[in-house]
Amino acid sequence: LICYYYLIPQSRPLNHASNKFSIITYTLILSQKKKNINNQSYNSCQIPFEMEYGNSTENGIGKSNGISNGYGIGNGYVNGHGIGNEHGNGNGDVYGNGKVNGEKVKKMKPMDSEMLREQGHIMVDFIADYYKNLEDSPQDFPVLSQVQPGYLRDILPDSAPDHPEPLKELLHDVSKKIIPGLTHWQSPSYFAYYASSTSVAGFLGEMLNAGLSVVGFTWLASPAATELEVIVLDWLAKLLQLPDHFLSTGNGGGVIQGTGCEAVLVVVLAARDRIMKKVGKNSLSQLVVYASDQTHSSFRKACLIGGIHEENIRLLKTDSSTNYGMPPKSLEEAISSDLAKGFIPFFICATVGTTSSAAVDPLFPLGKIAESYGIWMHVDAAYAGNACICPEFREHIDGVENADSFNINAHKWLFANQTCSPLWVKDRYSLINALKTNPEYLEYKVKVSKREEVVNYKDWQISLSRRFRSLKLWMVLRLYGAENLRNFIRDHVNLAKHFEDCVAQDAHFEVVTTRYFSLVCFRLAPIDGDEDKCNDQNRELIATVNSTGKIFISHTALSGKFILRFAVGAPLTEEKHVTEAWQIIQKHATKFIHNKKN
Ligand code: PLP
Repeated sequence: LICYYYLIPQSRPLNHASNKFSIITYTLILSQKKKNINNQSYNSCQIPFEMEYGNSTENGIGKSNGISNGYGIGNGYVNGHGIGNEHGNGNGDVYGNGKVNGEKVKKMKPMDSEMLREQGHIMVDFIADYYKNLEDSPQDFPVLSQVQPGYLRDILPDSAPDHPEPLKELLHDVSKKIIPGLTHWQSPSYFAYYASSTSVAGFLGEMLNAGLSVVGFTWLASPAATELEVIVLDWLAKLLQLPDHFLSTGNGGGVIQGTGCEAVLVVVLAARDRIMKKVGKNSLSQLVVYASDQTHSSFRKACLIGGIHEENIRLLKTDSSTNYGMPPKSLEEAISSDLAKGFIPFFICATVGTTSSAAVDPLFPLGKIAESYGIWMHVDAAYAGNACICPEFREHIDGVENADSFNINAHKWLFANQTCSPLWVKDRYSLINALKTNPEYLEYKVKVSKREEVVNYKDWQISLSRRFRSLKLWMVLRLYGAENLRNFIRDHVNLAKHFEDCVAQDAHFEVVTTRYFSLVCFRLAPIDGDEDKCNDQNRELIATVNSTGKIFISHTALSGKFILRFAVGAPLTEEKHVTEAWQIIQKHATKFIHNKKN
């Protein structure tokens, strides 16, 4: 075991009755690989780093870890543990109610501003170190977690503790037991699925949100939470150059859903109610919906939850001739055929940036069809919609004017941390009519000239309670400004282009779809047209590459071909990481290339 110790002492005075001084020390131990924990499956995990937070010691004797100024301090504060005085004497065993050095210790409170200050600093340091270590010591963080299923049950106790445990111990467990079981979505060498984009602003927004913890289900329940959401979604709509009818100043407006899945569900429900009001309550079995076979699985789930019959979900076939975009002609034919059979078409889900290959459905012709039949068109732009704040990508949502609803996931590619899924609707009343509830306990009188002007977001979503997510989005927009956000996105697209160029220059590989954004779909090219063998080789290649722990890429299937996906979007990724990823892929592909020559 090779350990490096970094001692970073900090001093901070505390206004606590029994402690004039508190010194937070923390010891960061970058440990090389494994530690001997008495557990078989845990021993197979890597321990990337271990952090110890010093409020003196576990037993309160005051032998501190690397204290710089000579006080053997127990700070006597964290979770009521390790209580001591400034000379380092303490019994370290007080669970909030006992006596320390003759003084009555306050009963533990769930929220205590000084404890929050103390532990909050520790937690921020812990997270900042996590990001730093992801960059500086990538060998300690296999991007794809290498643990086996069930590893955690073996190393955690069977039941919750009766008494408080110190934060120090908890973070120690996070380092040693949780982090090895993480797939590091924030690693600069993470290229799988679509990213979960984070930023300092997004993190701070989450922090403020968690701290304030208001619940803005109605305007009254927290007016600022509602009003900021209305304003911030108008701002974002303008950055995306959405048509005016999506703004709150018209009949439409925006709402932040938790996820894209929730967004498509609420609009399916709104569209279903709208059509059933027109054609009658007993028409459910005749309602049909349309999307391409590339549409995210959440669409099917939303339809099933909405009572749409599975056999009435039309997933129109796509292929390479449209780069996997939905062919308008197929849509037109399907609608005509369904109408002829007595079905009632009511919903089209178009996608800009499909999950498999970032394909783009042609919104303009699809929207025209939707409009002519009076069908609700939803645009799922969960990933790629974010890029449309850049003028050069905006063309991909041309035609959104004819959509009834539009959704992006700001947690995917707008640096807004999980979760934040803005949804805009053309007619907010269709949403409200479908989802409105008015229990007496939420009734209130608001003195506004027009009652209609008050937004009650509980009626725009499934759940009643809701987080103050607009705070985070507002902070992201303000702390970076639109131009920086555009440049973050452009950087990712350029990195994807760099990767695409590398692939294109190697005759053993091929790029399989036209790249529009930051996703490259590629594969080892088939040998002598043998597609089955090619699929097997690509399967083996991705498994080998991911098992190195150095990078993580994911896969999909297009027209029966096993395709590798390389998606850029992690905030720490730089060109060197992309180049290195390509070298790793090439290196592990030599086996197949060698076979090719034979
Ligand atoms: N739509 C698309 C195109 C997606 O790529 C995804 C997720 O990757 C979703 C919807 C679902 O989003 P969420 O995970 O926020 O529910």
